[in-house]
Amino acid sequence: MEKIKMTTPLVEMDGDEMTRILWKQIKDELILPFVELKTEYYDLGLVHREETKDQVTIDAANANKKYGVAVKCATITPNAQRVKEYNLSQMWKSPNGTIRAILDGTVFRSPIMVRGISPVVKTWKKPITIARHAFGDVYKATEYRVPGPGKAELVYTSEDGTSFRETVYDFECPGVLQGQFNKDSSIRSFARSCFQYALDTRQDLWFSTKDTISKQYDHTFKDIFQEIFEAECQARFEAAGITYFYTLIDDAVARVIRSKGGFIWACKNYDGDVMSDMVSTAFGSLAMMTSVLVSPEGNYEYEAAHGTVTRHYYKYLKGEETSTNPVATLFAWSGALRKRGELDGLEALGVYADALETATIETIESGVMTGDLCAMWEGDVPAQKVSSLEFLRTIRGRLEQKLG
Ligand code: NAP
Ligand code: MG
Repeated sequence: MEKIKMTTPLVEMDGDEMTRILWKQIKDELILPFVELKTEYYDLGLVHREETKDQVTIDAANANKKYGVAVKCATITPNAQRVKEYNLSQMWKSPNGTIRAILDGTVFRSPIMVRGISPVVKTWKKPITIARHAFGDVYKATEYRVPGPGKAELVYTSEDGTSFRETVYDFECPGVLQGQFNKDSSIRSFARSCFQYALDTRQDLWFSTKDTISKQYDHTFKDIFQEIFEAECQARFEAAGITYFYTLIDDAVARVIRSKGGFIWACKNYDGDVMSDMVSTAFGSLAMMTSVLVSPEGNYEYEAAHGTVTRHYYKYLKGEETSTNPVATLFAWSGALRKRGELDGLEALGVYADALETATIETIESGVMTGDLCAMWEGDVPAQKVSSLEFLRTIRGRLEQKLG
């Protein structure tokens, strides 16, 4: 079989621990035998981040901007214990945070559904994608404890010296106080990324806030979404046969539970943080959840939603074979290759990505799976727990058949 050729390199961001092991296995078993892989490689493993004083993360993000599509392995975000373990000169920032700050995007998380593993919510038949605004609000808030009686005010002073002043509360006793902000520019980017992703994936877009209570703050989010939708997206949505739907967050929660799935739910930062864990848990497992960062300029970074699976890595180091689930990492690769194919007009790459995903899903549906999925399995055939490598080799067998 002739290997599929690529024209533009994919930005490859390698990572840490167990997912770094899976990364290589996925490439060796499922990509390199089929694709003449062209990547620009950046090693975001913690050792190399330390060696480059984290410059490699910045270079990788800039390469993502240059070429448009990246695939990223899970990486360690250092804490005090990691600083010791890796003898770090600094507690380097989260690579995902650095990349997000450079690309200025929105993260979309979707579950991978297979027959035999059903969502807790019986009505959900299709994936629900959560789009979380990853800037501002409570995550950038200023807050303190109010020690006792006194007046709390919200003051803004413009560059020319004019100011607004509003009393927040006349405290008669101790309490707490918090100031939040967001920026129109960031809300616009968020809205554009959401509309773009809805068009890319041909799914309806829902957006929810609490604008009835927050008449300036949340209402601004609602207004900006509506304004961009009408000015830039409405005609394309109509042509694609999809809709944009705004509702209050509490109404959205009720509708999501009653829905069949198959749409994107855009959430403010805090709502997205909370709801994405609820939705991913109800769908099954973090190991079956993909994640893509979409920038307003149309740059894409594909990854798994889980971390580096440290506990399994320590077993692997002791020589034990692990049954770590590679599906989300594998789908990050197929998603990135499909997008590269789309942008470069390489149909064969898209066909390959579809075949790889189908072969993976069919493998699980045939009863062959990693340990984490066995616990959730409700299929007709008994579950057969295999190691990561055996799992990937079984997928390879199916993929070879499909690609003929
Ligand atoms: P984690 O790596 O997601 O793993 C937590 C637990 O979830 C695992 O111990 C395992 O449970 C289960 N699990 C997760 N992914 C799995 C998979 N593919 N297959 C099977 N089981 C899976 O989270 P963590 O242990 O909290 O974090 C480890 C490191 O990852 C940290 O250094 C953190 O900074 C980093 N992290 C990176 C990213 C990212 O790069 N996107 C995201 C989150 C965390 P059992 O042990 O019970 O089998
Ligand atoms: Mg969270």
